[in-house]
Amino acid sequence: MVSRLVRPLLCTRTFSSASPLNGYNFELNDTQKEILNVVRKFTREEIIPVASHYDKTGEFPWPIFKKAWELGLTNNHIPSYLGGLEQNVFDSCLITEETSFGCTGIHTAISGTNLGQSPIISSGNREQQKKYLGRLLDEPLIAAYCVTEPGAGSDVNGIQTKAVKKGEEWILNGQKMWITGGGVANWYFVLARSDPNPKCPANKAFTGFIVERDFPGVSLGRKEINMGQRASDTRGITFEDVRVPKENVLIGEGAGFKVAMSTFDKTRPGVAAGATGLAARALYEASKYANERKTFGVPIAQHQAVAFMLADMAIGVELARLAWMKSAWQADNSIRNSYVASIAKCYASNVANKCASNAVQVFGGAGYNSEYPVEKLIRDAKIFEIYEGTTEIQKVVISRAVIERSKQSL
Ligand SMILES: Cc1cc2nc3c(=O)[nH]c(=O)nc-3n(C[C@H](O)[C@H](O)[C@H](O)COP(=O)(O)OP(=O)(O)OC[C@H]3O[C@@H](n4cnc5c(N)ncnc54)[C@H](O)[C@@H]3O)c2cc1C
Repeated sequence: MVSRLVRPLLCTRTFSSASPLNGYNFELNDTQKEILNVVRKFTREEIIPVASHYDKTGEFPWPIFKKAWELGLTNNHIPSYLGGLEQNVFDSCLITEETSFGCTGIHTAISGTNLGQSPIISSGNREQQKKYLGRLLDEPLIAAYCVTEPGAGSDVNGIQTKAVKKGEEWILNGQKMWITGGGVANWYFVLARSDPNPKCPANKAFTGFIVERDFPGVSLGRKEINMGQRASDTRGITFEDVRVPKENVLIGEGAGFKVAMSTFDKTRPGVAAGATGLAARALYEASKYANERKTFGVPIAQHQAVAFMLADMAIGVELARLAWMKSAWQADNSIRNSYVASIAKCYASNVANKCASNAVQVFGGAGYNSEYPVEKLIRDAKIFEIYEGTTEIQKVVISRAVIERSKQSL
């Protein structure tokens, strides 16, 4: 078990941009190197040995979540005035890449709470932060982010969950779908339509709420059996005449769309880092196997076709890593990063899928079998191209920025 001194260690906020060097700098600072060592050890000792078990059973990995919570490997961004780590995006992505190397299902299970917390960190008032983020620091509890519905995912403007104001309360009715951590969360960020006029623009039509799981009228669907990342709990959640006090509105009526969308500039670098971790694992497993497996009297790594597959995988891993690093660095330096974050998320998720597929190819028949580690990687990789905005939606963001730039003079 990793030592408990990690919490104070992870609390030390130092930035790579604090380096005396100007311009480009690819060196991690000492704190980041230490974080990496601790997370690497945690991944090797706590995640990798049980990854297959959680994949097969679909159980929620509570013991690992609790250890990660103890060590400060979750709740990374909660403000320091509440006793949180207030870690920057870059350092949190370092953790993400490492834990994802171990198992992206377990990673999503233990870090999905960060997505739920994000709107409260960015837009919650002090009372809301104290009550709901403070609770997550006091106990190993989880938050979840409820935006998607059975009828609307990419098209957030199409969500149907309704919020109606009644005196000092709001009444919520509707259904959410594919909610990460839905069945294990203590509270939810919920986006609902508060202006029924279909002509009302998105940036005024929705309101964001904090809803406790124990509020009467909240009910959970079954745990969904997904293709991969099975350790993560994904569910539908129904809200039926749920009474939410007005104190649980984020910012104010009509501000919900902005609150919900603003999270992605900070969370997409993390999704890219997770995909990079999976790709790095595929490369590791494939290159190890290629050195051991012999055909025609030589290790298959000596066949150029196999060696070049490894080379392609390595190129993808290195570039995906640079992409998440740039998008995280921009977020930490208050540079608008939607464009680079979308590139990082889109590219790294594609690399993860290609690397997982190549790893199965390198393993041959054994790659197709669940006794070996790489078929799980293919199943786990696919979701990176879907959640937190599909690949196509990232390309909408990227192409809009490109087209907009082309209108400016040189
Ligand atoms: C395991 C899992 C976990 C998830 N976790 C969460 C969560 O915690 N919280 C949450 O709110 N949601 C969550 N989601 C939902 C996820 O974000 C959505 O599934 C995703 O945004 C896509 O929405 P959709 O499924 O409705 O697909 P649709 O929006 O119906 O898209 C279907 C297809 O059409 C394409 N498409 C749609 N619009 C366009 C366009 N304008 N241009 C080009 N192509 C387009 C899409 O790219 C996709 O290929 C999760 C989903 C899964 C599967």
